Order: sequence, then structure tokens, then C-alpha cells
Amino acid sequence: MERMLPFTAEHEMFRKSFRSFLEKEIAPKYPEWEKNGIVDRDAYRKMGEQGYLCPWVDEKYGGTGADFLYSLIIGEEIARLNLTGFFVFLHSDIVAPYIDSFGTEEQKMRWLPDCVSGKKILAIAMTEPNAGSDLAAMRTRAVRDGNSYVLNGSKTFISNGILADLVVVAAKTDPQAGARGVSLFVVEAGTKGFERSKPIPKIGMHAQDTAELYFEDCRIPAENLLGQEGYGFYYLMQKLQQERLVAAMINQAVAEHCLEITLQYVKERQVFGKPLSSFQNTQFCLAELATEIQIGRTFVDALILQHMANKNVVQEVSMAKYWICEMVNRVATRCLQLFGGYGYCSEYEISKLFVDARVQTIYAGTSEIMKLIISRGLGLK
Ligand SMILES: Cc1cc2nc3c(=O)[nH]c(=O)nc-3n(C[C@H](O)[C@H](O)[C@H](O)COP(=O)(O)OP(=O)(O)OC[C@H]3O[C@@H](n4cnc5c(N)ncnc54)[C@H](O)[C@@H]3O)c2cc1C
Repeated sequence: MERMLPFTAEHEMFRKSFRSFLEKEIAPKYPEWEKNGIVDRDAYRKMGEQGYLCPWVDEKYGGTGADFLYSLIIGEEIARLNLTGFFVFLHSDIVAPYIDSFGTEEQKMRWLPDCVSGKKILAIAMTEPNAGSDLAAMRTRAVRDGNSYVLNGSKTFISNGILADLVVVAAKTDPQAGARGVSLFVVEAGTKGFERSKPIPKIGMHAQDTAELYFEDCRIPAENLLGQEGYGFYYLMQKLQQERLVAAMINQAVAEHCLEITLQYVKERQVFGKPLSSFQNTQFCLAELATEIQIGRTFVDALILQHMANKNVVQEVSMAKYWICEMVNRVATRCLQLFGGYGYCSEYEISKLFVDARVQTIYAGTSEIMKLIISRGLGLK
């Protein structure tokens, strides 16, 4: 079925050149990054040089003012080459928009050009050891002291936590005010009192560095406050639509990739003297998965259109984040089964797709939190 998105010849050219860039510059290095538990920071510079970071940023700050379809293409191509531990979409489409939307002119001039060029890598630190789904329970404090804020507390599970040069940190400026007491700050690498752990060992997403961050009497200039004091939670909520849409669209592409490689495998693999694809079980299994994948594709593309038209589709995006992230796990599990023992071997791509899929129902809001949002939208309390 033809996609409903308004891709132009320029988008298609961009897709082609980005894919060959990934094949040449990123894919060959990826296994090494997986071994090291971290991406080579030079990869961001190379992406930046080619205009592949934050393409939507205004020309005034070094970007090209490209539409959201370019971000989509970047995410899809990364997913199709199975490089999803290279978290450029976090940098470009999840964190940089905070600076763009809530930063002052001076902050945007100071930070955005370096985000576009890849000189500075971004992370966002919300989660704490005792505050994940319940973000309002965060304990990290930011206390105003003259021309500075002093941060104390810790964050955990922070993607790009080790690579990041700029971290958007959520902290309480008024602990009595609950969610209304949260503010956002940009903490720069090298600030005294800001330390990071080693990469947290994980079962998948090995190339992506996930770390704990520690703030101990970490003094940052007051001008690193992002937006207004006390509005942090509101800003986070405002940006969740895009964050969760990005998660849904990347996982949709991953599910499509799982199906593609499995279709190829079952045609080649012989069992009982016949191709695996000739068994009805294989055919029905793949027919079911193809149907789910098509449903996901139709839904996510419709949401991308609505998002590009600046519509409020938070409810529907929560449904997509929930359903597509669960779906990619079903797809990866059932595809792996069709690979038999080879599916359990690391050298087979499907094994990596399977383990990398597992976290998708957890980060960027768990499936349960998505259902909570959806049920509130249904008027259930
Ligand atoms: C690899 C990785 C990368 C991450 N990257 C980042 C990052 O860059 N920045 C960042 O800030 N965070 C990041 N996170 C954190 C992630 O967003 C949290 O792990 C997630 O929000 C869940 O929080 P938690 O782990 O504390 O689980 P908890 O909140 O303790 O949840 C435990 C279980 O309880 C369920 N649950 C919780 N509340 C409810 C409820 N009200 N009703 C029903 N069930 C409920 C949850 O769904 C889950 O199943 C990352 C996590 C991982 C694993």
C-alpha cells in the first residue's frame, strides 16, 4: 500500500544519500560501539557535517529548517539498518526541541549551532532512582543562590549520559509545589560537581551509553535555566507528543525490518526437504505479523500528518507508543522463532532486534503509563 505521507523527490534523494552515508560511515563501526557500550563521538561530527543532525532547526542557528519528514527518514533508515543504539533521534528530535522552544534568543544562539554541527551532544535527565513513571516524585533540588543555581541529586538511566556535552536536567525549585515546583536547566559537561557513572550494563541496546548522573553542589549560572522557573513539568508534558511519536515511528520501521529479513530467511531455509516458507504455519504467522505491521504503518503515518499540522494528538500518540512498542516485541519474538536456533545466535540480526525491542515498552513512558493516559482521555479516573 502506498504511504500517505507527502514525500517529495527531495525527500527521496535525501533518504538515498542518508542511507549510503549510514552504510559507509556508521554501519561498519557499529559492532565496535556495541562492544564498547558507547558510540564514537566523532559519528555526531560526521552526521553534523552532512546536515543530518537537527535538520529542522532554523537557518539562523545553523539548521536548514527542514520539515518533520526529514527527521522521520533519518529515524527510519537508522532502524532499517538495525543501528537503533545510535541515539541521534534523541539528540535531534527529543532534546534539541527543548532548547528551541523554551530557550531565550541568547541560549539558542549559544547552543543550537553546536547541536546542529555535532560539536555538542545532548541528553535529557528526568528519571531518578525513585522517580521514573512518577516523575513528580523527583528529589533533585535546584536552589537559587545569587546569580547561580546549586543542584544536588542524582539521575539514572540517562541515554547519551556519558557522551553528552549538554544535559537538560529536571529539578525541583519548589519541593512543596509538587509538579508545579519542577524547573529545567541546561548543565554543561565539565561543570564542577557534575559526575557520571560508567555505562550501565544492559541486556540490549549495547551501543547506546546509559548512565547515572550525579550533582553535588553543582553550581550552574542562572542563565542556564530553560524557560521559566516552575514550568518544567509543563514543558516536559508539552514535548511528550513528539518524543512518543518518534518512539512509535522508529519501532514501526524496526518491525518492518524484522518482517523483511524473516521473509527472506524462510524462503531460503529448507526443512523436511522444503522451504520453511511453504508450511502453512509460517505463512499464517507472517500473514498475521504483516497485518499488524500494516495497521501500525497506517496509524503512525496518520499521526505524523496530524503532528506536522500542529494538531494535539497526545491521546492517539500514546496509543501508538503503547501499541507499536508492544507490537514490535510480538513481531521480533515470532520472527526469531522462525529462525529456530539461529535466531538465538548473536551473529543473526534477528537476535539483536529481539533484545533491542525489549526496552521499547519501558522507556519514553511505559506501556502502563500510556494506558493510564489513554484511559484518562476516555474519562476514566
Ligand atoms: C535504556 C534506557 C534508557 C533510558 N533513557 C532515559 C533518558 O534518556 N532520560 C530519562 O530521563 N529517562 C530514561 N530512561 C528511564 C525510563 O524513562 C524509565 O525507566 C521509565 O519511565 C520507567 O520508570 P522506572 O524504571 O522507574 O519504573 P517504575 O516507574 O518503577 O515502574 C515499574 C513498573 O510499574 C509500572 N507502573 C508504574 N506506575 C504505574 C501506574 N500508575 N499504574 C500501573 N503501572 C504502573 C510501570 O509501568 C512498570 O511496569 C531510560 C530507561 C532505559 C531502560
